[in-house]
Amino acid sequence: MAFIADRLSRIKPSPTVAVSNKAAEMKAAGEDVIGLGAGEPDFDTPEHIKQAAVAAMAAGKTKYAPVAGIPELRRAICDKLKRDNELSYAPEQITVGCGGKQTIYNALMATLNPGDQVIIPAPYWVSYPDIALLAEGEPVVVNCPESEGFKLTPAALEAAITPKTKWLILNSPSNPTGAAYTRDDLRALADVLLRHDQVWVMTDDMYEFIIYDDFTFTTIAQVEPGLYDRTLTLNGLSKAYCMTGWRVGYAAGPVEVIRAMNKIQSQSTTSTSTISQWASVAALDGDHSFIARNNAVFKERRDLVVGMLNQATGLSCATPEGAFYVYPSCAGTIGRQTPDGKTIATDEDFVTYLLEAEGVAAVHGEAFGLSPHFRISYATSTEALEEACRRIQRACAALR
Ligand code: GLU
Repeated sequence: MAFIADRLSRIKPSPTVAVSNKAAEMKAAGEDVIGLGAGEPDFDTPEHIKQAAVAAMAAGKTKYAPVAGIPELRRAICDKLKRDNELSYAPEQITVGCGGKQTIYNALMATLNPGDQVIIPAPYWVSYPDIALLAEGEPVVVNCPESEGFKLTPAALEAAITPKTKWLILNSPSNPTGAAYTRDDLRALADVLLRHDQVWVMTDDMYEFIIYDDFTFTTIAQVEPGLYDRTLTLNGLSKAYCMTGWRVGYAAGPVEVIRAMNKIQSQSTTSTSTISQWASVAALDGDHSFIARNNAVFKERRDLVVGMLNQATGLSCATPEGAFYVYPSCAGTIGRQTPDGKTIATDEDFVTYLLEAEGVAAVHGEAFGLSPHFRISYATSTEALEEACRRIQRACAALR
């Protein structure tokens, strides 16, 4: 339609959000659907965090917040970055937005000129390339296949860098694969980046706390302080604190970039909800013991899902280090036929078949830039997961 802006033709609606919404609609219509699309913990927000929001409302803390975030939250974020990541930031180096997504949006809108390149290792979180495109940048997608542990190698990074490269986006543990970069992995990538002054790093650490089997999380500015002046460290409250709907994400980086991001935000949302910000202060300053309890449950579910998917004909599923996703290969189903005679030609055909035949909603790998795979979020009840995996096994067994 001519009335719609040209920039919209460059992007698509978020496929993860689309699958979650579709599963929710089908459920609301009474259909027997198990939604494994949404990357959202099924655990409730901890009580002490909710109570901080109630107290903020009772105290009348319901007015506009400063664009960069309330000073108390920026102080709590500085403390967190020091405590968990050995990174020193001053409050003016922090910006708080409406979830990780808006923070990334602000960063790319504030820094990209037309044609600037953004290196995005694939599989990637669905929104990175589209936000880069909205900001008139050029996503440079680098394939990171399962044989490389779904991780960017130093050689692949080196080969992707050009004089027009502005950003590398790193995400560890990764959405959609759960793969996480070790300190040595980051060290090797940092060595490449040190040779290319023009490249900044945006590190999306949203799944920092959701890690298993004694994996130690590190972030790139911590591993290589020489990159501190060109790193934007992104994080948020959504996943580990079970606060997806509160919409709180943040970034720490050089003052000039943070100010530019605030300028963008001042002309869009102004800030995230003041009440959510007070709840986030309580989350960051408060008791974190629930995270280990939640992780123990997530780990059990991960092992259950990996085990059951590996028993499904045509699927193979690696065991991830973190996050709450698995990213199985469905290569063994490609070319086969469903009971009603349709050929599975792509991973999108496969997830469509799962939804239509068995009422299991997952997201196809093409949306994340690496096929033939699909993403399952195991942040849902163990019973639902077990039932979903049984249905997937049945669907796979029915292919001819
Ligand atoms: N980040 C989550 C996911 O990947 C939430 C949906 C979204 O914003 O993409 O499922």
